[in-house]
Amino acid sequence: MVQPTEGRAPAYIDTTKASIARVYDYALGGKDNYEVDRETIERVRAVAPEVNQLAVDNRAFLIRAARFIATQTSITQFLDCGSGLPTAENTHQVVQRLQPEARVAYVDNDPTVIAHGQALLEDNELTRFTAADIREPETVLDDPTIQEFLDLDAPVALFQIGTIHHFADTVDPQAVMARYIERLAPGSVVAIAHFFDPENSDSELARRMEQVFVHSPMGSGRFRTLAEIQGLFPGLEMVDPGVVPCYRWWPDGPQLRTEDPVQRCIVGGVGIKR
Ligand code: SAM
Repeated sequence: MVQPTEGRAPAYIDTTKASIARVYDYALGGKDNYEVDRETIERVRAVAPEVNQLAVDNRAFLIRAARFIATQTSITQFLDCGSGLPTAENTHQVVQRLQPEARVAYVDNDPTVIAHGQALLEDNELTRFTAADIREPETVLDDPTIQEFLDLDAPVALFQIGTIHHFADTVDPQAVMARYIERLAPGSVVAIAHFFDPENSDSELARRMEQVFVHSPMGSGRFRTLAEIQGLFPGLEMVDPGVVPCYRWWPDGPQLRTEDPVQRCIVGGVGIKR
């Protein structure tokens, strides 16, 4: 973990504005965050005491999905959109343990990730980082680093984990994903985790969290319905069990702990392009 010390941030990092990557880092128990980032989570905590579990379940899903792809498919190229700040188990560490030849390209546009994370994410010759806006598939896929490093004519695993719910409302996320998927080779896999409105008795909790996130210093965090989230995988064959709460997507074992309602407000799924 990089340890920015309060008051000693490089001049190009605006510590008066919350950053999605740093808010997430705080929710995961990291140290790469400032007061304005912590404020977002503390505001949500007032309506959802176990708000950190959203981040924990999201990250655990990323790790399990990465392991699944590395062991159950022959894919050895990963495009991790919205890498976030480096944490304990980054995508390349998870997949290269299982597939030592796997290449992992990270993309993010957060100034803190660009300033502190790039060097840590690019920690061997099979990892790269590039700064780009992941709402623009052509910009990402035609980025010179991506073009040079990944073979887009061969299957790729594309991650959009904990990212799409932060896109501005002016962006149509289903159209964005359709443009990514159109460019992927058959055999490619897409993994997505997204804030979720279950449209049942948990809906009120989801909408309260959404209101606080959207009006917080971070300013984003849409909770979408099952149909909206399934629409992010156009034309893909969903891997069993489809889009489900992240903690229920192939957990490491039987669940002994009682779930918290916030855990039913974030879902994940994996789809394959045939
Ligand atoms: N994918 C990681 C994970 O699941 O552990 C990190 C998730 S973090 C909540 C979301 C990341 O997406 C942040 O690092 C943020 O900077 C990045 N992000 C959000 N919108 C983005 C955009 N338009 N372009 C590039 N990165 C973006």
